Amino acid sequence: MANNNQQEQRVPGFACPQCGRFIATSITELLSATYLQCPFCHLQLHIDRRQSSKALNALAKVEAARLNVEKKSKFNR
Ligand SMILES: [Zn+2]
Repeated sequence: MANNNQQEQRVPGFACPQCGRFIATSITELLSATYLQCPFCHLQLHIDRRQSSKALNALAKVEAARLNVEKKSKFNR
């Protein structure tokens, strides 16, 4: 049951709080941008770094691990 959403989790993003549509983003963008804009309703979502620093730190670790894997697979070629 917990793995039902595996495919969706491959694309990082979240549902827009205004229109409810899926906003695809990248972890890098989440970490570097000060706000994101919904491509459907153009709602601007400001990223509160102090409030979400825990979540952002966790994301940064995941992203670092992912980049490490990509580097290694490149070296193996
Ligand atoms: Zn929206």
